[in-house]
Amino acid sequence: MPKLKYDDIYRITVDFIGLLSWIGEHGLIGDFGKACIYCEEGRFSFKKDSSWSKDGHLWRCTNKSCGKKISIRAGSWFENSHLSIANILKLTYYWVYKLPSSYIEIQLDVSNKTVVDWCNFAREVCREVILRQNDTLGGPGKVVEIDESKFGKRKYHRGRRVDGCWVFGGIERDTNKCFFEIVEDRTTDTLLEIIKRNIKPGTTIISDCWKAYACLKDHGYTHLTVNHSKEFVNPETGACTNKIESTWHALKLSLPRSGTQKQLYDSYFFEYVVRKKFLNDSEDAFLEFIRLVSTIYNPNSVLIKKRQELLAANSKKTDEHQDMDFVVDEDKENSNPNTSGIDLFD
Ligand SMILES: [Zn+2]
Repeated sequence: MPKLKYDDIYRITVDFIGLLSWIGEHGLIGDFGKACIYCEEGRFSFKKDSSWSKDGHLWRCTNKSCGKKISIRAGSWFENSHLSIANILKLTYYWVYKLPSSYIEIQLDVSNKTVVDWCNFAREVCREVILRQNDTLGGPGKVVEIDESKFGKRKYHRGRRVDGCWVFGGIERDTNKCFFEIVEDRTTDTLLEIIKRNIKPGTTIISDCWKAYACLKDHGYTHLTVNHSKEFVNPETGACTNKIESTWHALKLSLPRSGTQKQLYDSYFFEYVVRKKFLNDSEDAFLEFIRLVSTIYNPNSVLIKKRQELLAANSKKTDEHQDMDFVVDEDKENSNPNTSGIDLFD
């Protein structure tokens, strides 16, 4: 199947109903044509209606005495944005294929801030994908290379030296599974915690001779080292860390040249990992990213969630009501005829 070209995306977005059915088929918006969660008598029905949202369409309960509405964007990647659905889809396409911001601004007639925001949202999806996977590296028979690298150039800003930050990372040979984390220091405590969280016991770990790694063999790992001040490959074991070295190079190139705040570094690391793991070798990187978006946003679960919220709010009301009944009962007890004496005259 040929990859989707921009012309294809353009064609998908020309007709709004066609666009909705395309993004619906790809799990990007929900199908809310189900029983109304408010009244349970009507059904949500897809309607043309410009009074409420600029999409010109919404879901409305068929029960006239209810008439509750749901946005077609509810729970989706498109929710809470002032942009049209078509433009968001195009922005997503441009992000996947790394088109320059200046080009996107002209093509979609949007501000630089809008483009920057959406690139941030896309990287947040990457972060969620990786964190939810909780996919550790290594295991018996597997080799993982680990290393630390300094990111960010030293700058002299108003006489104050601004240092970059240390990043610790690892990559599994053969699979390219990897992790990267910004670290405050390079002590054993810091690095060992990250290693244990990301690499399974029984793994062969290759590193340089940094003293913090000396304890690895005491924690269930086979540890091989390369002394970089002397050699690139350990002559006895053949160990080398070429893979992580070249990954550092690629990762540094993937960061924007300027204006990247340190706090955003890790989101770029998540983007790098998602591109390496899912997008680069996929049949169609855009469709693959859309699939990841649909797993994170899952708009079809919105009705169920909202229904549960309503039920919880109702049962809270019922509880409060029962509490009141209980109070009334107590009052009745207090007005026990034998103590109040009133009923004695009845
Ligand atoms: Zn209803």
